[in-house]
Amino acid sequence: MAEKRVICTVCGLPRGIGRGNAWHPNGVITATYPPHIRGTLYDVDELNTLFPAISKRIGFDITRLVIEGKRNDGRRYADSLIRNRTEQGKGAAPLDIYSLISHFSAYWGLGLSEITEYEEGERLTLSVTNPYSDPMCRGDWSGVFEAVEKKRGEASWRDEDVRDVMDIVAVAGEPELETRIEQEVELGIPFKEEGDLQYRYCSECGVPLEISHQFKWDADRSLVVEVISGKRFMLHNTNGIVAVLRVLREELGAEIDRMITEISRIYASDYYSHLLEGSSMDAELMKFPLRSWGRVARLHHRDGGYRVRVVNPYCAPVVAGRLWGLTEAFTERDFALAGVDEDEGALDVALSPA
Ligand SMILES: [Zn+2]
Repeated sequence: MAEKRVICTVCGLPRGIGRGNAWHPNGVITATYPPHIRGTLYDVDELNTLFPAISKRIGFDITRLVIEGKRNDGRRYADSLIRNRTEQGKGAAPLDIYSLISHFSAYWGLGLSEITEYEEGERLTLSVTNPYSDPMCRGDWSGVFEAVEKKRGEASWRDEDVRDVMDIVAVAGEPELETRIEQEVELGIPFKEEGDLQYRYCSECGVPLEISHQFKWDADRSLVVEVISGKRFMLHNTNGIVAVLRVLREELGAEIDRMITEISRIYASDYYSHLLEGSSMDAELMKFPLRSWGRVARLHHRDGGYRVRVVNPYCAPVVAGRLWGLTEAFTERDFALAGVDEDEGALDVALSPA
């Protein structure tokens, strides 16, 4: 495999994580360099549960929409990388861009991808290990291919059963869907500066020390594992997932939010029910901002129910479901969702006794 990645001697995280990302007092992670794209530490199982569960509930396979959303996200990311490097007078040759993105992906926990074959304007072949998601990974690389080659790329596994070799091949485009998703991606995720969170930062790499306590971050295998649960996580930009959800809302109606919240609730309820011994409701809520899920600004327990306010949620319906399932798991009671309000970068969730 490629070179060993440099590890921080103080906290043990890969050095590239601190170089490339900043943890802010408002509960948000952004890239260190312009355009300061927001990132999120995603629970990979939660994401991989979400999209099939939606397909099952609505009786329509949304895989294609997920791939399309990620394709545009990947293209936008690669486009800005190419632009930045060109402006800085650095190389933006196709193989340089592919290698760089493969390098970053390893750091972020998206999986290892090694370029094995390349035919300019025609085809890119990658040897892939530990991909975080089949459709999202294919979408990411199709978009990168598109940015570099200026041609639409279609990604598929050479062997569907093994899924270790991915071919991205130039094909004719479908401009209509692309244009719409592109606009959604452009909308991005606004966030407020409000917040006074204080972290103890690593003196060498600058990442909050708490991150190195919560995660085993192995960039050589591209695996970020949450110590307490053994679950895989990844650091990926926030826009792509949210853009996919926005498109789903347009295609399938506003009920999709409620559906996502219910799916996330079931996932979270199960996830936190395994942490009752080693953690607490407060301890878990404190982890939200470190993952760029948002900052819990208020938590009221009244009349047997709960009201929670999160500033800068990375994706309101998912975070609402998390809060719902988390509360149920730690109180060992069922709650009804009495209200979800999203307004100007803040999410208010009300839970009442079921
Ligand atoms: Zn460090």
